[in-house]
Amino acid sequence: MSSTVVTGIGELLTCDGMDGPVGGRLGLRHGAAVVVEDGLVAWLGTATDAPAADHRVDVGGRAVIPGFVDSHAHLVFAGDRGDEFAARMAGTPYDGGGIGVSVRATRAATDDELRALVAARFAEMRAQGTTTVEVKSGYGLTVEDEVRALRIASEFTTETTFLGAHVVPAEYAADRAAYLELVTGPMLTAAAPHARWVDVFCEPHSAHAFTAEEARAVLLAGREAGLGLRVHGNQLGPGPGVQLAVELGAASVDHCTHLSDDDVTALADAVGTTVATLLPGVEFSTRSPYPDAAGLLRAGVDIALATDCNPGTCYSSSMPFVIALAVREMGLTPGEAVYAATAGSAKSLRRSDIGRIVVGGRADLTVLDAPSHVHLSYRAGVPIARALDLSGASTGVAG
Ligand SMILES: [Zn+2]
Repeated sequence: MSSTVVTGIGELLTCDGMDGPVGGRLGLRHGAAVVVEDGLVAWLGTATDAPAADHRVDVGGRAVIPGFVDSHAHLVFAGDRGDEFAARMAGTPYDGGGIGVSVRATRAATDDELRALVAARFAEMRAQGTTTVEVKSGYGLTVEDEVRALRIASEFTTETTFLGAHVVPAEYAADRAAYLELVTGPMLTAAAPHARWVDVFCEPHSAHAFTAEEARAVLLAGREAGLGLRVHGNQLGPGPGVQLAVELGAASVDHCTHLSDDDVTALADAVGTTVATLLPGVEFSTRSPYPDAAGLLRAGVDIALATDCNPGTCYSSSMPFVIALAVREMGLTPGEAVYAATAGSAKSLRRSDIGRIVVGGRADLTVLDAPSHVHLSYRAGVPIARALDLSGASTGVAG
């Protein structure tokens, strides 16, 4: 067992301060140090009090924050949909139909090709400060292809999500009931051992997605199979996704682009159970209105931020980009946005060992080439965040 003390921290954000307004919960400290042992935080406090450690890493006055938790990503896919993005920017509206393009390309890819694509995407995320990623299936849509996606995702993360109910695949368009039977029956049975969560694209505004009653069947079957619940809801227009997620006690309802007052009240009443996960990269990439994140916070709703990295509606893996959008377009303060992207997202995964820097928690530290977390949104587009790699730690300055 070897230990490393991280010093020279200009600003430490633990995201584990006292309860109350987000500013208080940021747990902002100056002159702090963190001791890491076996991948866990063993000690944190004032640098001058730090215990001796085997190695020392001096981050040279940079800010250190919890690694980002990207609680919503679709990383197991092949193919390219740049043309669809260009068409959308030229005025073609998004209706969920392009998912079929990714399904065809993904089915045609070999295991090794998919594995290499996922590995590259994980590396890209880590290089931008993300240390935990949830990964969904959903571009296979056959028993074999969904299991394959989850098997490959499991090589990279424990946060795997069965999304066989992403869209009704083209070959079932004339018989949706048969696909629903498959996705709640044999496909679920085969997928469940490889998944922690089940998710469904509940969206009456897309002919390709699932109605409230279909989504309910998917979620109830998933729960029966031992999976936790997540929902894609209220993305393309007002809809039943939020109410369904709250009713069934889902850990997260994601998108929340179009919310009624009743939806906001339901989410506020569900604090501690259901998190509203906002995905502003999607609004950016589909030129849609942004949800009022600040209003949700004022209403007392638990919020999270994630990328929704996927080949159709947001091919960005960048949590700093999402944070900048949340500040610029959704009314969050820089601190509120960082909190939602770390502790908030961890809560949506029902994890207390990540998203915060606490003794006993995972030492997932992200370092900023900046004196403060404010720079994540202040210096939008500048690659200042990266996951701190302590594996080769020795005395000296972290590169
Ligand atoms: Zn999604």
